[in-house]
Amino acid sequence: MQKKINYHYYINSYEWKNKSRKFKRKTGYKCQIFPWLKAESSHHTTYKKLGCEKWNIDCIVVSRVAHKFIHGLLAGSWREIGVSQQNKNPKNRYPNTFQKLIHTYARIVGILLYLIKFI
Ligand SMILES: [Zn+2]
Repeated sequence: MQKKINYHYYINSYEWKNKSRKFKRKTGYKCQIFPWLKAESSHHTTYKKLGCEKWNIDCIVVSRVAHKFIHGLLAGSWREIGVSQQNKNPKNRYPNTFQKLIHTYARIVGILLYLIKFI
């Protein structure tokens, strides 16, 4: 699967790590789902813009716990599963309804966290 190779190559690249750091700066390093927690990583809400992601559109920044929650329980699994694993069920393709809802919530929190920095 060519797309998967590209994804793994990209996600380990300096370019992505740098971009992810920039995204975390947008919220003052706060998780967009549980804002009292520290944002540890950037989460793709969609993989359609891989390589040219925009913060709060294609990516949000999340804590470890929030990331586990999105790719675990919200994906319909007790343990954390990858997006390709989730997509094996055609009725549960990423992002499913629960994941879309939490992404919307996270974007609102993201805007608030961004604005708070200027107060
Ligand atoms: Zn993710």
